[in-house]
Amino acid sequence: MKNTQPIRMCISCRCRHPQNSLIRLKLDGNDVIAYDGRGRSFYLCKECAVNEKKIKGLTKRFKQDAERFVKLLKELINNG
Ligand SMILES: [Zn+2]
Repeated sequence: MKNTQPIRMCISCRCRHPQNSLIRLKLDGNDVIAYDGRGRSFYLCKECAVNEKKIKGLTKRFKQDAERFVKLLKELINNG
């Protein structure tokens, strides 16, 4: 079967991957949450989602609570 997944860019390392291999997130107010089908989303690759340095950068960039953000990424990696 032909892979028809659109190619998306990781917001952290800017590498490009098929959409289904990336973690999809969105901003809900000030919180980064899992994409729920509404509003604008962005993508994070799985390498960045487990990279402590990258996570720290994103935590700062989006002003997230580090503990909650790391927990969210772990959950999304395990679900995907
Ligand atoms: Zn990445």
